[in-house]
Amino acid sequence: MAVPKRRISKTRKRLRRTHFKLAVSGLVTCSQCGAMIRSHHVCPQCGYYGGKPVFLDGKLVKEEPKKAARKKKK
Ligand SMILES: [Zn+2]
Repeated sequence: MAVPKRRISKTRKRLRRTHFKLAVSGLVTCSQCGAMIRSHHVCPQCGYYGGKPVFLDGKLVKEEPKKAARKKKK
C-alpha cells in the first residue's frame, strides 16, 4: 500500500481546503432592481419578470407569460 512520505503540514492542508466551498445555486440578480432572486420566478422585490411588470403594489398587472402562451395555442 502506498504511504505518504511526509506528513502534510497544517498550512498545506488548510491552503488546499480554502478551495472547498459551497456554491449558492439557482440565484440570479434581477434585471430590473438588482436584487438576488430565484431564476425563472417573478421578482418579489419589484414584481418584474423578463423585463415586464407582473405585480405592482400587490396587484396583478398581466397574466404570467406561461399562461398567456397556453391560451394562444387553443
Ligand atoms: Zn426586481
